[in-house]
Amino acid sequence: MSRPRSARHLAPLSGGTPAHAGKVWLVGAGPGDPELLTLKAARALAAADVVVHDRLVPEAILDLARPDARRLYVGKRKSNHSLPQDDICALLVALAGEGQTVVRLKGGDPFVFGRGGEELIACLEAGVACEVVPGITAGLAAAAAVGAPLTHRGLAQAVTLATGHAAPEGRAPDLDWVSLARPNHTVVFYMAVSTAGTIAERLIAAGRAPGTPVAVVENASLPGQRSRLATLATLPEAVADLDGPAVLIVGEAAGVAERLAPARDSLRAAALAALAGEGPALGARRRGA
Ligand code: SAH
Repeated sequence: MSRPRSARHLAPLSGGTPAHAGKVWLVGAGPGDPELLTLKAARALAAADVVVHDRLVPEAILDLARPDARRLYVGKRKSNHSLPQDDICALLVALAGEGQTVVRLKGGDPFVFGRGGEELIACLEAGVACEVVPGITAGLAAAAAVGAPLTHRGLAQAVTLATGHAAPEGRAPDLDWVSLARPNHTVVFYMAVSTAGTIAERLIAAGRAPGTPVAVVENASLPGQRSRLATLATLPEAVADLDGPAVLIVGEAAGVAERLAPARDSLRAAALAALAGEGPALGARRRGA
């Protein structure tokens, strides 16, 4: 069978792998916008015999696989894992063992709250070749979407990616609140909508100012993207009506988004008016100013 050039490009560089050995690619699909997928991820998809994917991967990205590639949904929903993690690991190893090229496609980046580490360990320990293709993690897409830099001179010298997920449900996540409450430090919380109120309380109790800016971004990079600029004190109201995947960007640097919001809004309004033929184009206005 002749393989497309892209598939050959993805073949292992060393000659140590038998011709028909399968392989697992742990691929980050990015935050949702297909244009935020890496070229390498697209090539891996085009080469896949089988794509094993979860819930946060949009159809437009799955469609980059060959029409005859098998698609296996092993999706995870909060508190409702349709296939336990051990079974997913075993599935990847078994498929590769049949000689298949397997793409394990995950939202964002496989190594950021994606359990990619467990899958990499399972594959390599079973003697299955496995390579990781990084993806744009939701926190980065959210920061870009609202203009909230994660590091910023004078405002944030460090960034932490933290989980807001609490087990058992309803409790505070088990985190080092004192270190997360340090000023000039951005904390991006994933899986944190249902625990946002508790997170704000814990950070304030540990010394973070109640007025610390928080950018909340839901469905970052997707058509249904929504964002809110809040503070720790107002966070519970800001997340009250969210129902999609969202991240919380907490820290002084998130305030840049708020500072820039009026300028962004007026530029957007001017561009829309120009498009509709209702106002001067931006360039003309600038020249006339
Ligand atoms: N591996 C993924 C994270 C998986 S955990 C990554 O690197 O992005 C799932 C959490 O990711 C969600 O609860 C939410 O907090 C976040 N998330 C995923 N996609 C998102 C999106 N498009 N916009 C905002 N948050 C998102």
